[in-house]
Amino acid sequence: VRDASDAAISQPKRSGRRVALVAMYPQPNPAMPELISNHGLRMVEASLRAAKLDDLTVDVFDLYDASADELTDALITLDPDVIAFSAYLWSFPLFANVACQLHRDDPTRLIVLGGPSARPAMLDQTPFLQTRDAVDVLVINEGELTLLEIVKATDRSTESLSAVKGIAQWHDDQWQQSTPRPLGDLNELPSPYVMGLVPPGGLGVLQTYRGCPYTCSFCEWGTMESPKRVRTADHLATEFAAMADIDVTGALLVDAGLNLNTRAFKELSLAVDRTGFLQNRKLICEVYPAALTDEHVDFLSAVGEPLVGVGLQSFDNSVLAHVERSFDEQRFEDNIAKLTSVARVAIEIIMGLPGDSPEQFRRSFHRARSFPCALRVYHCCVLPSALMVRAPAEHRLDYDPVSLKVRSCLGWSRADIDRECDFLLEQAAKSDGQVGDYFWVFSAPHETQHPAITDQVDGRPGRSQPVT
Ligand code: SF4
Repeated sequence: VRDASDAAISQPKRSGRRVALVAMYPQPNPAMPELISNHGLRMVEASLRAAKLDDLTVDVFDLYDASADELTDALITLDPDVIAFSAYLWSFPLFANVACQLHRDDPTRLIVLGGPSARPAMLDQTPFLQTRDAVDVLVINEGELTLLEIVKATDRSTESLSAVKGIAQWHDDQWQQSTPRPLGDLNELPSPYVMGLVPPGGLGVLQTYRGCPYTCSFCEWGTMESPKRVRTADHLATEFAAMADIDVTGALLVDAGLNLNTRAFKELSLAVDRTGFLQNRKLICEVYPAALTDEHVDFLSAVGEPLVGVGLQSFDNSVLAHVERSFDEQRFEDNIAKLTSVARVAIEIIMGLPGDSPEQFRRSFHRARSFPCALRVYHCCVLPSALMVRAPAEHRLDYDPVSLKVRSCLGWSRADIDRECDFLLEQAAKSDGQVGDYFWVFSAPHETQHPAITDQVDGRPGRSQPVT
């Protein structure tokens, strides 16, 4: 690897504008029947194409499955100047492998890694140390304008690219991070739906703002800025028309929550009223229970099929304090009653949170099952922008460096985690639940399994943990 790195330093990067964008869907499971496009990749593609740069060619690898060798061969055959991967929990190991092979083949191509797993802390995990020499640029947070600036540049040396906001580069055996890029204005970013880039069918990905006002330490969005700029009703209405043209069955709202930004909600309501887009369609969204008002309930009651996730994580406030959250039980009960009167609701909790314990977790599990809601339980993951860099030492996190699942931590021994996994597996088998790599899903009591409500969150761009 040292040899390859030396070659990269001594050979300048190409200046051409033949670009390959690469993303891969998570492995399908029975709880996730509908196509949700690789939205991060399509947003970046839209910004590149809309810029109309001279000599630009863009090839998109929108993958369902591929081996590392197949993908490497295909990319070497295409031989682009810039290869940008959109890396998530499920695709990061594959892309890390491919990046290393591409770098050995020809270090003059620029290899860029974006997406939630493109973080220095992730590449500092032991199995991925070699990847640091193969990847030229990590794009931190938003990728649209960052990749556009990189592709525009003809000098792609480490020094020159260090002026691009929102990137990290491994250089001289250390990470060099440029000035952070502020959150973009979604009204100024081209919509991949309006540009006709998204494959037809499935669920449309809807985003009305970026960022989150809260700081939950297990969530990758907990370190983002609070949202300031929101999409206008006009901008949303244009996108709804484009989504309708490709026959989407509904929309997956990827905002931190339907009710976490008053202005965004107002604009969304206006666009929905004006277009009737959600009247006979599905809306999958997250709702922050403490911020629910009658306006949100009325809005959901007018949606064709509203499916709401409520991230609670634990019913125990002492547990939530460890991850910078809290909740009021009476208010939660009242708001769940309001939500279940108009929507199908799934409560979300996490197994293995630092500061929780098997006993408290079981209480949360049984309490959650007492509501007329589905339940999703997630195995706690140490995500690279979240617990991996934010957990205090006393949390004693031990986790798998590839899957990022917690193996033990404050309040949980390895045996405790294994026992609760067995318990959840057993409960799922008894109640016709679903089991995924990172989650266990239970239908609402007296309700048959309904795939769309059982696994909304795994398909949300940028999310691999329950949210909101
Ligand atoms: S869990 Fe929800 S409320 Fe908390 S930081 Fe993440 S998106 Fe925001």
